[in-house]
Amino acid sequence: MGKILIKDIYLEGKQVSVLVDGNRISRIADHIELDAETDLTKIIDGRGKAIIPGFANMHTHAAMTVMRGSKEDEKLHKWLSGIWEMETRLDDEIVYWGTKLACVEMIKTGTTFFNDQYFNVESAVKATCEMGLRSAHSFVFLDLGDEQKMSRQRENCQIMYDRSRQWNPLNIFEVGIHSIYTVGEDNIIWASRFAKDHNLKVHIHIAETAQELNDCLDSHGCTPVEYLDKMGIFSPDIMAAHCIWLSEKDIATLGAAGVNVVHNINSNLKLASGYKFKFQELQDAGANICLGTDGVASNNNLDMMETMKITALVQKAWRKDPSAITLPQLLSSATRNGYKAYGLDGGVIKEGALADFSIIDINNYGFTPNINFAANLVYSAHSDCIQTVVCNGRIVMENRQIDGEDEILANVRRLYGRMTGETI
Ligand SMILES: [Zn+2]
Repeated sequence: MGKILIKDIYLEGKQVSVLVDGNRISRIADHIELDAETDLTKIIDGRGKAIIPGFANMHTHAAMTVMRGSKEDEKLHKWLSGIWEMETRLDDEIVYWGTKLACVEMIKTGTTFFNDQYFNVESAVKATCEMGLRSAHSFVFLDLGDEQKMSRQRENCQIMYDRSRQWNPLNIFEVGIHSIYTVGEDNIIWASRFAKDHNLKVHIHIAETAQELNDCLDSHGCTPVEYLDKMGIFSPDIMAAHCIWLSEKDIATLGAAGVNVVHNINSNLKLASGYKFKFQELQDAGANICLGTDGVASNNNLDMMETMKITALVQKAWRKDPSAITLPQLLSSATRNGYKAYGLDGGVIKEGALADFSIIDINNYGFTPNINFAANLVYSAHSDCIQTVVCNGRIVMENRQIDGEDEILANVRRLYGRMTGETI
């Protein structure tokens, strides 16, 4: 790995030069002149451009790109059974190309780190590794209370964990518990203990819908958060997706444990599962708030810039308060908070941080005038301003060109029919 020197680029109100050495940002200064340029792999002219941290998409099901647009305008349960029916036909090839398409989309929209929960994990890891992105991948527990499935999944989790020791360090292994309504209590306890014993994160859907809350109250006499808290699972190692239907006590519990809560507004809105996410209350209680897109089947894209804007608009709207969420809160939750959840020094442009960032075009209407860069980025720009993306010190897209993109699109078009049983 060599060096990348970006000259005269806009960063937080001034023109600077940024030097990347290996996988880190090594220097930021007004001017950087290198004595020996022999090991310099790249000089980028930053004039008319800005550098921004890579986005951390902290909840998605990457290979669901293959299902884009396939189950529209259906009620939640019909939608879910349609998705599960299609998922019976998943195979390694579909997950591999679907994940590659997700990586193309994430790179083009400035995401450098994503948290995935899906099946055929090793195909997803292979695809992500080839695309050069940083990621976490869950071994998913989903047993519907079936004892045989429970014990088989425990064995497979151990096997996958052992094999993950050979993965590229950019791709992190973690434990996935799909939800309280699809995983038996014994397996929730086993999986979270396995994660603790091996120092792994746990990625779980919690309190996504009113039905999940009501069913839990009926069968366990408590909320989903109380149910999981009795098992002692909460800690800063939990990645809790959704958390829409929370009581005040639930918020206090998640906050006190320092849980990472991932808000996925587009999916919540599109599936009409709720939108009154308690961003400020959770943050005040001590939770680390991250943003995610959820899978393409319920979004239908993986665009974190769009996610920031819709998060802001919905918070402001339902609270009837334009000051309900601020630009710094949005930007942190879309970038550094995700990295922080995994103990990574990234999602920020500073000396010594991981070199995960985007170079964006600001010589266009969306950034003119450039009075408030953050406001322009969140509210007026579109992700097509993202030109070049660097992940772990390596250029994964240059001037919107990604190696192999046409082949990826062609393969997903070919595989869609196999997945749905339709031909297009
Ligand atoms: Zn999800």
